[in-house]
Amino acid sequence: MNQAVSIPEKEDVENKNFQLFNDLSKLEHEQLIFCSRPDAGLKAIIAIHDTTLGPALGGTRMWNYSSESEALRDVLRLSRGMTYKAAISGLNLGGGKAVIIGDSRTEKSEALFRAFGRYIDGLGGRYITAEDVGMTEQDMEWIFSETKYVTGIPKALGGSGNPSPVTAYGVYMGMKAAANKAYGSDSLEGLRIGIQGAGSVASNLASYLQKEGAVLFISDIFEEKASRVAKTTGATVVEPNDIYTLDLHIFSPCALGGVVNDDTAGHLQCDIIAGGANNILDDEQRHGELLKEKGILYAPDYVINAGGIINISSELEGYNEEMALNKTSRIYDTTIKIFEYAELHNIPSYKASNILAEQRIESVAKLGTVYSSKSHFSGRLGELYMKDRT
Ligand code: NAD
Repeated sequence: MNQAVSIPEKEDVENKNFQLFNDLSKLEHEQLIFCSRPDAGLKAIIAIHDTTLGPALGGTRMWNYSSESEALRDVLRLSRGMTYKAAISGLNLGGGKAVIIGDSRTEKSEALFRAFGRYIDGLGGRYITAEDVGMTEQDMEWIFSETKYVTGIPKALGGSGNPSPVTAYGVYMGMKAAANKAYGSDSLEGLRIGIQGAGSVASNLASYLQKEGAVLFISDIFEEKASRVAKTTGATVVEPNDIYTLDLHIFSPCALGGVVNDDTAGHLQCDIIAGGANNILDDEQRHGELLKEKGILYAPDYVINAGGIINISSELEGYNEEMALNKTSRIYDTTIKIFEYAELHNIPSYKASNILAEQRIESVAKLGTVYSSKSHFSGRLGELYMKDRT
């Protein structure tokens, strides 16, 4: 893994300076699949970033992207993030992600998701999908009717269901670890916490925080969603843009990525950033360094939002909720370890996390020279391993 690698800049993508194969190899993606089925309204991209540790697992996002290049940029960033997320979480999985271009409120159909399921099935297990933004259990069920390479399927169908509650639990654990590092105590009681987004992860997170006595603020582009969460948690609803300027102990982005950017970074008045959204830093390197300079402790997003992938990956080994929650609680220790490594080497936390994830991938990759039957992997993960390695 090459640390100097960077995601293509927005401007490069917009100016068409984006050379696909060149950039794919720079970002170290293994494979990119474009899925087009006009009669079903399907336009999707599947990105497989790295399968060193195992089959690529990552959710499917349905979003009304303003351009195809924006969708491409998103899927490349997200799939790479999944490689790091699986690695730092100690999972035997690689990184992948898919995006479906379309309006999740008006453009869904059985045909669209079943067509998409067939594309996934054709990859024979190299990519396993799950739920992400804009997707519901019903959509996952349609995909599941065409392929077994789906996780996070409804509990009624023998799966682990919506991963958001477990993701929220992991974010809560990571947030406590960050509080411990910043304040010497992991209690969140009385801390002012601003949550951006009032969706599945945010609403579950708000419940944990409310139970612990935090003072909550919440925003959503759909005000009624924020009001609904506020009603059950006592949070104060704020306008979407005001969340960046509030005086907070902790800012918790739980909507979309790129929210710590050139426009917002200068306004942030918090000690800690710890949220569930993927790719919180618009430019990982630049904004990661900036937060360090500003003395804001950043809990790396893919580390603390790994509860979802931990939950769905347990499905591959035979789902057990208690075990999944137990594994997710280890996010606390992992986050502390990253902060300690960052402090020891005087580097930003995002970088410390990347280095530790890369070290694990590299060390496991080297083991490939020692013959193993991989028979210790049970269930569907075992099957996929055998398929991948024989
Ligand atoms: P969701 O669709 O349920 O919620 C997202 C919410 O954010 C929506 O209510 C949306 O209206 C709101 N939103 C969008 N832009 C906003 C803005 N600018 N300001 C305020 N609110 C805004 O999605 P979710 O499942 O809760 O996921 C939230 C984030 O967490 C995503 O980035 C997702 O990739 C990440 N994540 C989710 C999981 C999971 O298990 N669901 C796991 C890991 C990471």
